[in-house]
Amino acid sequence: AATAVFALTLTACGQSGEGGAEDKGGDAKGGTIGVAMPTKSSERWIADGANVVKDLRAKGYKTKLVYGEDDPDTQVAQIENLITQGVKGLIIAAIDNKSLNNVLQEAADAHIPVIAYDRLILGTRNVDYYASFDNEKVGELQGTYIAHKLGLDSGKKGPFSIELFAGSNDDNNTKYFFGGAMKVLQPYIDKKQLVVRSGQTALNQVTTLRWDGTTAQHRMEDLLTSAYRSGRVDAVLSPYDGISIGILSALKSDGYGGKGKPLPVVTGQDAELASVKSIIAGEQTQTVYKDLRKLAEVAANMVDATLGGKKPEVNDSKTYDNGAKVVPAYLLQPVSVDKGNYREVLVDGGYYTESQLK
Ligand code: BGC
Repeated sequence: AATAVFALTLTACGQSGEGGAEDKGGDAKGGTIGVAMPTKSSERWIADGANVVKDLRAKGYKTKLVYGEDDPDTQVAQIENLITQGVKGLIIAAIDNKSLNNVLQEAADAHIPVIAYDRLILGTRNVDYYASFDNEKVGELQGTYIAHKLGLDSGKKGPFSIELFAGSNDDNNTKYFFGGAMKVLQPYIDKKQLVVRSGQTALNQVTTLRWDGTTAQHRMEDLLTSAYRSGRVDAVLSPYDGISIGILSALKSDGYGGKGKPLPVVTGQDAELASVKSIIAGEQTQTVYKDLRKLAEVAANMVDATLGGKKPEVNDSKTYDNGAKVVPAYLLQPVSVDKGNYREVLVDGGYYTESQLK
């Protein structure tokens, strides 16, 4: 399956391209591409790294893959290193969207093209292309799922109680995910069909630094203690599977999922293995699946085209303004997955085998 972790044998790249100062294109084809991923603590990024490496090698490149341990300074140092080693191109999934400006100036000075992978890098002109998913759509799928599952879209009036979680505030995707979800949920909140008992509805009140599941678990515990001593929570907007798992732990410790106290609707993102199993077991309700195989392909094609002196294919040239320029993007489509369609989407789609989900 695509998310199976490929053997991460990395090609040493010291021998190629020491100078690194050629123009973009020309003899760069077949050189080494630096791939900087944010963390190994989530399955998806391990798959991303492996997929990108595989696709670049198939195109005849050498690769150097690094993981930044969710620490912005580490990532900056890693990218600096890749530049010193003479990589011909960079594919970067940023940890902190604003901390890369100086190092990307170094890349630009060495004529190294930069592809922002999944997460847009902000505040610099030195990002050539952006490969991602329709991030607002991800949030819309989560919000729509909650409204549908509660019956709000088919005439139920509620009121239902909901709590909101968002991703890391230094990840540019966070505001798109949250914005997309709130586009659907806010009208119900305004009509008091959805009630956020904690009162925490602003993005800066609900973010989760570095997408950390334990941080989310603690916040959910606090919410349950402070706002749900009586009554119960009917839905929780969660932006990412690792956060959903933390939220579910807090809920279960509080007796949810037991007699007379059903678990709320809990969304997610990434179709990580633990969450798909949780969905099958009837705990997490939904996730948003993003085919990482396709994302890797888009990014590898972008770097290859750029180095070959061609224009990569893009399908969005207006949405992703990084503050210094609008970065031309190729956006893939996310898919909502729950107990009803996981088999069709994930198993028939070749993402997981049935036996992995046991
Ligand atoms: C990605 C999500 C992921 C999250 C946490 C976001 O930038 O788009 O797919 O769930 O980071 O890793």
